[in-house]
Amino acid sequence: MKKSKTNLIGLNKQQLRDLAVSLGEKPFRGDQIFRWIYHDQVQSIDEMTNISAAFREVLKQHTSVMPLAIEQKQVSAQDGTIKFLFKLNDGLKIESVLIPPSDVPEIAEDMRRLTLCISTQVGCPADCKFCATGTMGFYRNLTVGEIIGQIIEAQRHAPRRISNIVYMGMGEPLLNYDNVMNSIDIIGDDEGIGISPRRITVSTVGYVKKIKQMADESRKAKLAISLHTLDDDLRTRIMPINRKHNIDELLDAARYYWKKTRQRVTFEYIFFEGLNDTDKDIKSLKKLSGKVPCKLNIIPFHPIYLPGDSPMKDTFRPPGREVVQQFVERLRKECDFPVMLRSSSGIDIDGACGKLAVKESA
Ligand code: SF4
Repeated sequence: MKKSKTNLIGLNKQQLRDLAVSLGEKPFRGDQIFRWIYHDQVQSIDEMTNISAAFREVLKQHTSVMPLAIEQKQVSAQDGTIKFLFKLNDGLKIESVLIPPSDVPEIAEDMRRLTLCISTQVGCPADCKFCATGTMGFYRNLTVGEIIGQIIEAQRHAPRRISNIVYMGMGEPLLNYDNVMNSIDIIGDDEGIGISPRRITVSTVGYVKKIKQMADESRKAKLAISLHTLDDDLRTRIMPINRKHNIDELLDAARYYWKKTRQRVTFEYIFFEGLNDTDKDIKSLKKLSGKVPCKLNIIPFHPIYLPGDSPMKDTFRPPGREVVQQFVERLRKECDFPVMLRSSSGIDIDGACGKLAVKESA
Protein backbone atom coordinates (compact mmCIF):
# COMPACT_ATOMS: atom_id res chain seq x y z
CA MET A 1 0.00 0.00 0.00
CA LYS A 2 1.28 3.49 -0.85
CA LYS A 3 2.36 5.44 2.25
CA SER A 4 0.47 8.72 2.60
CA LYS A 5 2.51 11.90 2.70
CA THR A 6 3.11 13.80 5.94
CA ASN A 7 1.42 17.18 6.14
CA LEU A 8 4.03 19.80 7.00
CA ILE A 9 1.31 22.00 8.56
CA GLY A 10 1.17 21.00 12.21
CA LEU A 11 4.80 19.92 12.68
CA ASN A 12 6.80 21.94 15.21
CA LYS A 13 10.39 23.11 14.85
CA GLN A 14 11.93 20.04 16.45
CA GLN A 15 9.79 17.67 14.38
CA LEU A 16 10.84 19.50 11.20
CA ARG A 17 14.51 19.36 12.23
CA ASP A 18 14.16 15.61 12.82
CA LEU A 19 12.43 15.26 9.46
CA ALA A 20 15.26 17.13 7.69
CA VAL A 21 17.88 14.90 9.35
CA SER A 22 15.91 11.75 8.49
CA LEU A 23 16.00 12.85 4.85
CA GLY A 24 19.78 13.36 4.89
CA GLU A 25 19.92 17.14 5.53
CA LYS A 26 21.21 19.32 8.35
CA PRO A 27 18.77 20.26 11.20
CA PHE A 28 18.71 23.96 10.22
CA ARG A 29 16.76 22.99 7.09
CA GLY A 30 13.92 22.17 9.48
CA ASP A 31 14.04 25.76 10.80
CA GLN A 32 13.82 27.06 7.24
CA ILE A 33 10.81 24.89 6.47
CA PHE A 34 9.17 26.05 9.73
CA ARG A 35 9.48 29.67 8.63
CA TRP A 36 8.16 28.96 5.14
CA ILE A 37 5.11 27.07 6.44
CA TYR A 38 4.01 29.31 9.31
CA HIS A 39 5.58 32.72 8.82
CA ASP A 40 5.40 32.96 5.02
CA GLN A 41 2.48 30.53 4.74
CA VAL A 42 3.54 29.15 1.35
CA GLN A 43 1.15 26.82 -0.42
CA SER A 44 3.74 24.50 -1.95
CA ILE A 45 7.21 23.12 -1.33
CA ASP A 46 8.38 24.68 -4.63
CA GLU A 47 8.00 28.14 -3.06
CA MET A 48 10.70 27.35 -0.45
CA THR A 49 13.38 29.08 -2.50
CA ASN A 50 16.27 28.96 -0.01
CA ILE A 51 16.12 25.17 -0.07
CA SER A 52 17.99 23.38 -2.86
CA ALA A 53 15.93 22.03 -5.76
CA ALA A 54 17.29 18.53 -5.03
CA PHE A 55 16.08 18.59 -1.40
CA ARG A 56 12.74 20.08 -2.43
CA GLU A 57 12.26 17.03 -4.68
CA VAL A 58 13.05 14.68 -1.78
CA LEU A 59 10.67 16.64 0.46
CA LYS A 60 7.92 16.38 -2.14
CA GLN A 61 8.28 12.59 -2.25
CA HIS A 62 7.56 12.31 1.48
CA THR A 63 5.60 15.41 2.51
CA SER A 64 3.24 18.07 1.24
CA VAL A 65 1.55 21.31 2.34
CA MET A 66 -2.08 20.33 2.81
CA PRO A 67 -4.46 23.18 3.58
CA LEU A 68 -7.84 22.74 5.22
CA ALA A 69 -10.66 22.59 2.68
CA ILE A 70 -13.20 25.39 2.95
CA GLU A 71 -16.68 23.93 2.52
CA GLN A 72 -18.50 27.21 3.02
CA LYS A 73 -17.65 30.83 3.69
CA GLN A 74 -20.23 33.36 4.85
CA VAL A 75 -19.68 37.09 5.24
CA SER A 76 -21.98 39.10 7.50
CA ALA A 77 -23.52 42.08 5.79
CA GLN A 78 -24.15 43.56 9.26
CA ASP A 79 -20.66 43.66 10.72
CA GLY A 80 -18.16 42.00 8.32
CA THR A 81 -17.76 38.86 10.43
CA ILE A 82 -16.59 35.95 8.28
CA LYS A 83 -17.57 32.43 9.17
CA PHE A 84 -15.71 29.44 7.72
CA LEU A 85 -16.94 25.87 7.61
CA PHE A 86 -14.02 23.49 7.02
CA LYS A 87 -14.27 19.90 5.84
CA LEU A 88 -11.62 17.65 7.38
CA ASN A 89 -10.02 14.66 5.66
CA ASP A 90 -12.44 12.24 7.36
CA GLY A 91 -15.45 14.27 6.20
CA LEU A 92 -16.19 15.85 9.61
CA LYS A 93 -16.75 19.59 9.77
CA ILE A 94 -15.54 22.38 12.02
CA GLU A 95 -15.92 26.14 12.08
CA SER A 96 -13.84 29.25 12.66
CA VAL A 97 -15.08 32.82 12.86
CA LEU A 98 -13.11 35.92 11.90
CA ILE A 99 -14.34 38.85 13.94
CA PRO A 100 -13.57 42.48 13.11
CA PRO A 101 -13.78 45.11 15.86
CA SER A 102 -17.25 46.37 16.63
CA ASP A 103 -18.24 49.88 15.60
CA VAL A 104 -20.87 50.04 18.34
CA PRO A 105 -19.62 52.84 20.62
CA GLU A 106 -20.44 51.21 23.95
CA ILE A 107 -18.41 48.14 23.03
CA ALA A 108 -14.90 49.37 23.63
CA GLU A 109 -12.57 47.48 21.32
CA ASP A 110 -9.24 48.20 19.70
CA MET A 111 -10.16 49.08 16.11
CA ARG A 112 -6.98 47.48 14.71
CA ARG A 113 -7.89 44.16 16.21
CA LEU A 114 -8.87 41.24 13.95
CA THR A 115 -9.73 38.19 15.99
CA LEU A 116 -10.01 34.61 14.80
CA CYS A 117 -12.07 32.26 16.94
CA ILE A 118 -10.89 28.68 16.34
CA SER A 119 -12.13 25.16 17.11
CA THR A 120 -10.23 22.48 19.00
CA GLN A 121 -12.55 19.49 18.76
CA VAL A 122 -15.21 18.13 16.43
CA GLY A 123 -18.31 18.46 18.60
CA CYS A 124 -17.77 18.74 22.34
CA PRO A 125 -18.24 16.46 25.33
CA ALA A 126 -18.90 19.33 27.79
CA ASP A 127 -22.59 19.52 26.78
CA CYS A 128 -23.32 23.10 27.87
CA LYS A 129 -27.06 23.44 27.43
CA PHE A 130 -27.01 26.84 25.69
CA CYS A 131 -24.46 25.85 23.04
CA ALA A 132 -25.12 24.54 19.54
CA THR A 133 -21.89 22.50 19.56
CA GLY A 134 -23.00 20.88 22.82
CA THR A 135 -26.03 19.39 21.01
CA MET A 136 -23.76 17.60 18.49
CA GLY A 137 -22.07 15.22 20.92
CA PHE A 138 -18.34 14.55 20.67
CA TYR A 139 -16.50 13.07 17.67
CA ARG A 140 -12.78 13.63 18.16
CA ASN A 141 -9.94 16.01 19.05
CA LEU A 142 -8.39 18.12 16.31
CA THR A 143 -4.73 17.59 15.41
CA VAL A 144 -2.21 20.42 15.70
CA GLY A 145 -2.32 20.70 11.90
CA GLU A 146 -6.11 21.09 11.90
CA ILE A 147 -5.93 23.77 14.61
CA ILE A 148 -3.18 25.75 12.86
CA GLY A 149 -4.74 25.09 9.45
CA GLN A 150 -7.76 27.18 10.44
CA ILE A 151 -5.51 30.21 11.00
CA ILE A 152 -3.57 29.77 7.76
CA GLU A 153 -6.74 29.44 5.67
CA ALA A 154 -8.60 32.27 7.41
CA GLN A 155 -5.60 34.55 6.91
CA ARG A 156 -5.83 34.01 3.14
CA HIS A 157 -9.37 35.42 3.22
CA ALA A 158 -8.78 38.13 5.83
CA PRO A 159 -8.76 41.83 4.94
CA ARG A 160 -5.57 42.32 6.99
CA ARG A 161 -3.30 40.47 9.37
CA ILE A 162 -5.06 38.49 12.09
CA SER A 163 -4.02 40.06 15.39
CA ASN A 164 -5.69 37.88 18.03
CA ILE A 165 -6.58 34.22 18.42
CA VAL A 166 -9.27 32.96 20.77
CA TYR A 167 -9.76 29.26 21.46
CA MET A 168 -13.52 29.62 21.84
CA GLY A 169 -14.87 27.77 18.81
CA MET A 170 -16.15 24.20 18.80
CA GLY A 171 -14.83 22.06 21.61
CA GLU A 172 -13.31 22.44 25.05
CA PRO A 173 -9.64 23.37 24.50
CA LEU A 174 -8.37 21.95 27.78
CA LEU A 175 -9.72 18.51 26.86
CA ASN A 176 -7.31 18.57 23.89
CA TYR A 177 -4.53 20.00 26.04
CA ASP A 178 -1.35 18.80 24.32
CA ASN A 179 -2.43 19.69 20.79
CA VAL A 180 -3.73 23.09 21.92
CA MET A 181 -0.50 23.95 23.76
CA ASN A 182 1.64 22.71 20.85
CA SER A 183 -0.39 24.87 18.49
CA ILE A 184 0.10 27.91 20.76
CA ASP A 185 3.87 27.36 20.66
CA ILE A 186 3.76 27.55 16.84
CA ILE A 187 1.41 30.56 16.77
CA GLY A 188 3.43 32.48 19.36
CA ASP A 189 6.85 31.83 17.76
CA ASP A 190 8.25 34.88 15.91
CA GLU A 191 9.51 32.54 13.21
CA GLY A 192 6.12 30.87 13.13
CA ILE A 193 2.77 32.62 12.84
CA GLY A 194 4.14 35.36 15.07
CA ILE A 195 1.11 36.37 17.14
CA SER A 196 2.19 37.28 20.65
CA PRO A 197 0.90 34.85 23.32
CA ARG A 198 -0.54 37.94 25.07
CA ARG A 199 -2.96 38.07 22.13
CA ILE A 200 -3.94 34.41 22.39
CA THR A 201 -6.77 33.42 24.76
CA VAL A 202 -7.68 29.91 25.82
CA SER A 203 -11.23 29.63 27.09
CA THR A 204 -12.43 26.81 29.32
CA VAL A 205 -15.64 25.86 31.05
CA GLY A 206 -13.55 24.92 34.07
CA TYR A 207 -11.36 21.82 33.94
CA VAL A 208 -9.51 22.74 37.10
CA LYS A 209 -6.63 20.25 36.86
CA LYS A 210 -5.77 21.56 33.42
CA ILE A 211 -6.02 25.19 34.57
CA LYS A 212 -3.48 24.35 37.25
CA GLN A 213 -1.30 22.53 34.71
CA MET A 214 -1.30 25.64 32.52
CA ALA A 215 -0.18 27.64 35.56
CA ASP A 216 2.51 25.14 36.55
CA GLU A 217 3.89 25.13 33.01
CA SER A 218 3.90 28.97 32.95
CA ARG A 219 1.95 29.06 29.72
CA LYS A 220 1.94 32.57 28.31
CA ALA A 221 -1.48 32.52 26.64
CA LYS A 222 -4.28 34.26 28.50
CA LEU A 223 -6.93 32.28 30.34
CA ALA A 224 -10.67 32.90 30.06
CA ILE A 225 -13.21 30.99 32.13
CA SER A 226 -16.84 30.60 31.02
CA LEU A 227 -18.58 31.38 34.28
CA HIS A 228 -22.08 32.62 33.34
CA THR A 229 -23.39 32.51 36.93
CA LEU A 230 -22.15 32.26 40.50
CA ASP A 231 -25.13 30.16 41.51
CA ASP A 232 -24.09 26.50 41.76
CA ASP A 233 -27.61 25.15 41.15
CA LEU A 234 -28.12 27.18 38.00
CA ARG A 235 -24.58 26.49 36.74
CA THR A 236 -25.06 22.76 37.20
CA ARG A 237 -28.30 22.97 35.27
CA ILE A 238 -26.80 24.76 32.30
CA MET A 239 -23.19 23.47 32.47
CA PRO A 240 -22.79 19.82 33.51
CA ILE A 241 -19.06 20.40 34.27
CA ASN A 242 -20.22 22.14 37.45
CA ARG A 243 -21.22 18.76 38.88
CA LYS A 244 -17.59 17.72 38.69
CA HIS A 245 -15.97 21.00 39.70
CA ASN A 246 -18.23 23.45 41.52
CA ILE A 247 -17.81 27.21 41.59
CA ASP A 248 -15.61 27.24 44.72
CA GLU A 249 -13.22 24.74 43.15
CA LEU A 250 -13.19 26.70 39.93
CA LEU A 251 -12.42 29.99 41.69
CA ASP A 252 -9.67 28.23 43.68
CA ALA A 253 -8.11 27.11 40.39
CA ALA A 254 -8.39 30.66 39.00
CA ARG A 255 -6.67 32.01 42.13
CA TYR A 256 -3.93 29.36 41.80
CA TYR A 257 -3.45 30.45 38.17
CA TRP A 258 -3.14 34.10 39.24
CA LYS A 259 -0.66 33.31 42.02
CA LYS A 260 1.59 31.32 39.69
CA THR A 261 1.40 33.47 36.57
CA ARG A 262 0.38 36.93 37.85
CA GLN A 263 -1.98 37.05 34.89
CA ARG A 264 -5.48 38.33 35.48
CA VAL A 265 -8.21 35.82 34.58
CA THR A 266 -11.07 36.84 32.29
CA PHE A 267 -14.49 35.59 33.29
CA GLU A 268 -16.98 35.23 30.45
CA TYR A 269 -20.61 35.85 31.32
CA ILE A 270 -23.20 35.05 28.65
CA PHE A 271 -26.15 37.21 29.55
CA PHE A 272 -29.53 35.45 29.36
CA GLU A 273 -32.69 37.40 29.99
CA GLY A 274 -34.54 36.20 33.09
CA LEU A 275 -31.81 33.74 34.11
CA ASN A 276 -28.67 35.48 35.36
CA ASP A 277 -29.70 39.14 35.27
CA THR A 278 -30.97 39.83 38.81
CA ASP A 279 -29.81 42.01 41.72
CA LYS A 280 -28.58 38.83 43.39
CA ASP A 281 -26.33 38.17 40.38
CA ILE A 282 -24.86 41.65 40.59
CA LYS A 283 -24.25 41.20 44.31
CA SER A 284 -22.39 37.93 43.84
CA LEU A 285 -20.39 39.23 40.85
CA LYS A 286 -19.23 42.19 42.97
CA LYS A 287 -17.51 39.76 45.29
CA LEU A 288 -15.42 38.22 42.51
CA SER A 289 -12.50 40.60 42.90
CA GLY A 290 -12.10 39.60 46.55
CA LYS A 291 -11.52 36.07 45.30
CA VAL A 292 -9.24 36.56 42.28
CA PRO A 293 -7.93 39.53 40.25
CA CYS A 294 -10.07 39.44 37.15
CA LYS A 295 -11.88 41.09 34.30
CA LEU A 296 -15.48 40.37 33.30
CA ASN A 297 -16.78 40.07 29.74
CA ILE A 298 -20.55 40.34 29.32
CA ILE A 299 -21.75 38.66 26.10
CA PRO A 300 -25.43 38.98 25.14
CA PHE A 301 -26.81 35.52 24.30
CA HIS A 302 -27.34 34.62 20.62
CA PRO A 303 -30.49 32.58 20.02
CA ILE A 304 -29.56 29.03 18.99
CA TYR A 305 -31.40 26.12 17.50
CA LEU A 306 -32.22 23.49 20.14
CA PRO A 307 -34.09 20.31 19.24
CA GLY A 308 -37.87 20.55 19.78
CA ASP A 309 -37.88 18.07 22.67
CA SER A 310 -35.03 19.78 24.56
CA PRO A 311 -36.15 20.53 28.14
CA MET A 312 -34.05 23.70 27.96
CA LYS A 313 -35.71 24.98 24.81
CA ASP A 314 -37.46 27.91 26.47
CA THR A 315 -34.85 28.56 29.18
CA PHE A 316 -32.46 30.69 27.15
CA ARG A 317 -33.69 34.02 25.89
CA PRO A 318 -31.63 36.73 24.24
CA PRO A 319 -31.75 39.94 26.25
CA GLY A 320 -32.95 43.29 24.95
CA ARG A 321 -30.25 45.86 24.30
CA GLU A 322 -31.42 48.17 27.10
CA VAL A 323 -31.47 45.39 29.68
CA VAL A 324 -27.87 44.51 28.87
CA GLN A 325 -26.75 48.11 29.01
CA GLN A 326 -28.35 48.69 32.40
CA PHE A 327 -26.78 45.52 33.79
CA VAL A 328 -23.34 46.50 32.50
CA GLU A 329 -23.65 50.07 33.80
CA ARG A 330 -24.57 48.84 37.26
CA LEU A 331 -21.69 46.40 37.29
CA ARG A 332 -19.28 49.11 36.18
CA LYS A 333 -20.46 51.33 39.03
CA GLU A 334 -20.40 48.69 41.70
CA CYS A 335 -17.43 46.44 40.82
CA ASP A 336 -13.77 47.31 41.21
CA PHE A 337 -12.62 45.29 38.18
CA PRO A 338 -13.02 46.03 34.45
CA VAL A 339 -16.37 45.05 32.97
CA MET A 340 -16.47 44.82 29.17
CA LEU A 341 -19.47 44.45 26.92
CA ARG A 342 -18.64 42.11 24.05
CA SER A 343 -20.53 42.02 20.80
CA SER A 344 -22.54 39.13 19.44
CA SER A 345 -20.79 39.20 16.08
CA GLY A 346 -22.24 37.75 12.91
CA ILE A 347 -25.81 37.25 14.13
CA ASP A 348 -27.03 37.07 10.53
CA ILE A 349 -24.61 34.25 9.64
CA ASP A 350 -25.01 32.01 12.70
CA GLY A 351 -21.91 33.44 14.32
CA ALA A 352 -22.18 31.58 17.63
CA CYS A 353 -20.04 28.51 18.16
CA GLY A 354 -21.24 25.35 16.39
CA LYS A 355 -24.28 26.89 14.78
CA LEU A 356 -23.16 26.46 11.20
CA ALA A 357 -21.84 22.92 11.67
CA VAL A 358 -25.05 21.87 13.43
CA LYS A 359 -27.15 23.33 10.62
CA GLU A 360 -25.00 21.57 8.00
CA SER A 361 -25.33 18.20 9.66
CA ALA A 362 -29.07 18.57 10.42
S1 SF4 B 1 -19.78 26.17 25.21
FE1 SF4 B 1 -17.77 25.39 24.64
S2 SF4 B 1 -17.36 23.81 26.20
FE2 SF4 B 1 -19.57 24.21 26.29
S3 SF4 B 1 -20.48 22.66 24.89
FE3 SF4 B 1 -20.11 24.54 23.70
S4 SF4 B 1 -18.11 24.19 22.76
FE4 SF4 B 1 -18.28 22.76 24.47
